[in-house]
Amino acid sequence: MKYASTLTAIPAGGVDVILVRAEAVVRRGIPRWEMAANKTAMERIRAALVQCGYAIPFATVIAHLSPSQSARPGSHLDLSIAASILCALDALSAHSQQKLTEQLMLGEIALSGEVLPVRNCLALLLGARRRGVERVILSERQRSDAVLSGIEYTFIKTLSCLRNLPPSETSRHSLTIQKPELSLNHLNLSTDLKRALCISAAGWHSMLLIGPPGTGKSTVARQLAALLPPLNQDEALEVRAIEGFETSQTPASAIQEPVARPIRIPHHSATPVAMSGGGNPIRLGEASRAHNGILILDELAEFNRAALQALREPMSQAAIHVSRNAASAVLPANFLLLATSNACPCGNHGHTELKCNCNPLQIQNYFNRIYGPLSDRIALEVLVTRSLENQENGISAEFMLNAIKRATEVQQTRFAKETFRFNGQIPTARLLEFIPQSSEMKNVLDSLRGRTQRKLHGILRAARTIADLDGAEDVRAVHLLEAASFFCLELLRVNGRESA
Ligand SMILES: [Zn+2]
Repeated sequence: MKYASTLTAIPAGGVDVILVRAEAVVRRGIPRWEMAANKTAMERIRAALVQCGYAIPFATVIAHLSPSQSARPGSHLDLSIAASILCALDALSAHSQQKLTEQLMLGEIALSGEVLPVRNCLALLLGARRRGVERVILSERQRSDAVLSGIEYTFIKTLSCLRNLPPSETSRHSLTIQKPELSLNHLNLSTDLKRALCISAAGWHSMLLIGPPGTGKSTVARQLAALLPPLNQDEALEVRAIEGFETSQTPASAIQEPVARPIRIPHHSATPVAMSGGGNPIRLGEASRAHNGILILDELAEFNRAALQALREPMSQAAIHVSRNAASAVLPANFLLLATSNACPCGNHGHTELKCNCNPLQIQNYFNRIYGPLSDRIALEVLVTRSLENQENGISAEFMLNAIKRATEVQQTRFAKETFRFNGQIPTARLLEFIPQSSEMKNVLDSLRGRTQRKLHGILRAARTIADLDGAEDVRAVHLLEAASFFCLELLRVNGRESA
């Protein structure tokens, strides 16, 4: 009896994988091929091996995926199963066998023995690299997916190539990053709003725009993508991998198309699962589809409360944990939230000319809906009104882009050794390390009592970004005060109550 095993991977939701070993045992006996998890695969692999000229002995062949509870059968495991059977049959030289057991294999096998491309290969490769895999064998036709650095790739056409593996290669491609066009100059925006947009884009701080309809809230929201710093290669790879889940089969050419930060605008009728993902098999939600991009919630008060609650975990952890059967998966969900809202049900509350017809109770209820699940996770609240400023005198788009670029570079140095990239992503436990508090700052923080701890942390992170935009090394009280000034929800709510 001879045993052999090779390495492969199964998707674990998003851009993570579970590494599994495809095992094979050959023993003398009745000639039958068995695999409990996937019977049809064995017939296919056997036919393909014969087609490629391998001698099939009169013996029992048993294949198995280990660990078995996590291993759902999939055709992308074919190559690995076939390779371990060949090793167990001693059909390959000792040298080839040694090489095969060290590498991760992903490929479907056609009856002709051809190795076919697998679906969502980029997501599998990203997950495998995260799990420490350094060498991978893929179908020759999957060459365009081999865009990850840090991995050695071997491309094969058919199962015959396993006799003598071609030399490995490293990635020669990189993704082209697309930057959206900024067209803020023609919008008449208040200085306050422009400043808030700068802070949000430079430090990845979530934002809520409140104001009457017709003030261009949604247009401004879409412009935020153009202000954000460009994607880096790793972020772009994750975006492209997640896009791969949207289409059933990504054409080989699509991987070379430019990548942009995603912008997702879910409808307010979205269910909690549609927002956060889940189900069996696991599907990605809006939070993951907006990964490394912007999630726009237009008219926040109209959204289902449970759907907003589903966004709380990703807003603080940039990921969503879902469990499926015995296994659990972590879905990536590092999005920048941008919400918009009217100031009352009719929308005219706070308007200089139009009259609001809502009664105080209606306004109160409306604000309670916005105020509930997400408000203390939103760093910047901005009141949007029609600007009377002459745009010639205001801050220009070029000025904003330059300030954001500077602030991004400072953060790049600061977070060089971290897994996060922006001030808005500093974990709560490490706030003091990155934002030391002087006695002057403590006084300001004392004056902000009454706001939740989470809200104060958001203000501290935004203050770090304001200091970076101003080119200041240390965060000072003035930065903290400016960060705290983006706070209008509570004030509007109180006004609504008092006008009763
Ligand atoms: Zn109203």
